[in-house]
Amino acid sequence: MQEFLDLRSLSINNIVMNASFGACLLIYSMYNSQFRGIRQTAYAFFMSGIAFLLIGLRNYIPDFLSIVLPNTLLTFSMATIHLGFIYFYQLDTRLMRPFHGVMLLAMASSAAYFTYVNESVNARIIAISFIIGFQCLYIMRTLLTAHNKANFTIAISYLAFATFFIMRGVLTFTQDSIDDFMTSGLMHAISIIVYELLVAVTSFGVVWIVSYKVQRVLIEQASHDPLTKVLNRRALENIINVEHSRSLRSNVPMSVIMLDIDHFKRINDVFGHGRGDEVLVEVASVLTQNTRKYDSIARFGGEEFIILLPDTALDKAQVIAENLRIKIAESDFNFNPEDGIQITASFGATECNLQRDGWLKILERADHGLYQAKAAGRNRVVVCSANNQDAERLITG
Ligand code: GH3
Ligand code: MG
Ligand code: MG
Repeated sequence: MQEFLDLRSLSINNIVMNASFGACLLIYSMYNSQFRGIRQTAYAFFMSGIAFLLIGLRNYIPDFLSIVLPNTLLTFSMATIHLGFIYFYQLDTRLMRPFHGVMLLAMASSAAYFTYVNESVNARIIAISFIIGFQCLYIMRTLLTAHNKANFTIAISYLAFATFFIMRGVLTFTQDSIDDFMTSGLMHAISIIVYELLVAVTSFGVVWIVSYKVQRVLIEQASHDPLTKVLNRRALENIINVEHSRSLRSNVPMSVIMLDIDHFKRINDVFGHGRGDEVLVEVASVLTQNTRKYDSIARFGGEEFIILLPDTALDKAQVIAENLRIKIAESDFNFNPEDGIQITASFGATECNLQRDGWLKILERADHGLYQAKAAGRNRVVVCSANNQDAERLITG
């Protein structure tokens, strides 16, 4: 078996793999420069490539260059892979720096001690195996701070690498004294292949988490209003469809509130469009703060918002709308008292009729209520029941 998996050829293989994956990641990092951390992973691979070059030259170059330096470089490379993930997720580096510092010190000193003072190949293998194993576990822990399939998959791989390296360390305790690492046996040859796997998984993992993040940003941008950060019209239409089917299926009520800021054009005309934008953001914030987290708030048009209230009957929606109306009317929106500005909004509220409504019909009814509220003098809530197209009640503000 030894002739098939000789450590020198495996080291060459590792050099090629580290150099090529490192180069690919470096190029990838140039085209994705908004993401930090990819470059660090590339540098880490270059470092481990150099480490395997030096390991491959064992017995041809001085021990310091083929034992102490490459083992320390491998430890440094693992620390740099970790740093890459920490930079990517913009996490705190305060804890990881001393941890890897200790690992580096332990690796350099034990490699030197078991080479020059008390020569033992077994002891060196045990040291590097445990150190890389612990570093893999720490990287795994960092990966688990983000909850998604990409991170979970890479974290599980790192757990497998950690298990292998720690097991290798434990088994090396029981192995007969090794004379030369280059002929140390199958398990140590496999450890070089496992390192190759680590390089492949890490490279694929970095590309995966970057594309996952890009995807998340695109989904966020496609479904949210960039100014107020609430849902946009398209996202709301999707949610209404889903919630409407759900309310039909489970026979629970669902209500919709539509509101429009009163005389908003005047704010723009007198205080400028920028100030108008600020008011829109603040109104959205009042709506978000005064609704439940499973209600959906969307900006439907310029200064028009819609709130979808699942599991809510019309009388309750009316109370919620009235509360929102008061909250908006009471807020000063950072205008000075001498400006004489009071921001108010008009509301239409309706409930979905389980038997026959399409959601367009529901929106039409809410809009009808809103129109009635405007016509009746603004800053008020008008409720339209599903049975009566005409405004049923007026609540004056
Ligand atoms: P009403 O009480 O009848 O609703 O009067 P209004 O002035 O609020 O209604 P109108 O529809 O005439 O004006 C809406 C204004 O909203 C017109 C437009 O300039 C403004 N608007 C729409 N989108 C934005 C935006 O994104 N930012 C700002 N600042 N203004 C916007
Ligand atoms: Mg308006
Ligand atoms: Mg309007």
